[in-house]
Amino acid sequence: MIMKDRNTFIAGVANHRSIAWSIAKAIDATGGRLALGYLGDREREGIEKIVDQLEGSPMLVHCDVNDNDSVRAAFDAVGKEMGHLDSLVHAIAFAKREDLDGRFKDTSRDGFELALGVSAYSLNVLTQAAEPLMKEGSSIVALTFLGSERAVPNYNVMGVAKAALEASVRYLARDLGPQGIRVNALSAGPIKTLAARGIKDFPEMLRTHAERAAMKRNVTVEEVGQAGLFLCSPMSSGMTGDILYVDAGYRFMAG
Ligand code: NAD
Repeated sequence: MIMKDRNTFIAGVANHRSIAWSIAKAIDATGGRLALGYLGDREREGIEKIVDQLEGSPMLVHCDVNDNDSVRAAFDAVGKEMGHLDSLVHAIAFAKREDLDGRFKDTSRDGFELALGVSAYSLNVLTQAAEPLMKEGSSIVALTFLGSERAVPNYNVMGVAKAALEASVRYLARDLGPQGIRVNALSAGPIKTLAARGIKDFPEMLRTHAERAAMKRNVTVEEVGQAGLFLCSPMSSGMTGDILYVDAGYRFMAG
């Protein structure tokens, strides 16, 4: 029960397929208390349908990273109810569908700013709000993908957003390290979720990853959930500014 007496804010549960949900289940199963931030009514309904799968009763808070008032209200409510936070999970990304298809060069200014704002700057937004509730030994985790380092077909502007997110992880780790707050990224292999469905030819990405991966398969959402638990927990107390790859051994395989 490594997460007993530890409070975690998780942003990004949309439904039972969400990576954030898998991390939530892993933390709940090890005794942790949860606050789940949701974007809107649709996501809240998605969470309400599955929330009874948890042992504990999580706090549900509206938290739209594009709306400062909503973020402030969410963390005020969490502070009042929980007193402090031990971990924060950022599992949020968004880009226009037309920007996850075809040529990266054609990305509009609008589409670029939207994707980078929601998927990368939002880590600053959540970290600013969470920091006053955190003390030494706390952990922040963001979800990323290999498209940050390699030009993956159709991933396009999201690859640029993930590169910004990973650089942000390193700078935030430098900022918060002296206080004993760790910041890491978890780079997951492809998983069929709502967000992934927006990427053109995603089934093809799943197929090529499974073919090339050392383990000859894709990772499961449960495996990513366990790695999220590891990064949130004191088991990873010596890690910060780092990226943990959970991709069935895809990254270093050629051909
Ligand atoms: P998902 O669709 O279940 O989750 C994405 C979440 O982002 C949703 O809950 C959505 O409500 C939230 N979101 C979007 N805009 C928001 C806003 N303005 N404010 C607050 N929340 C907002 O999909 P997922 O695949 O579980 O994505 C979670 C994270 O994992 C993302 O960062 C994604 O890029 C990353 N990731 C996914 C894969 C994959 O293959 N699915 C692989 C590696 C990394």
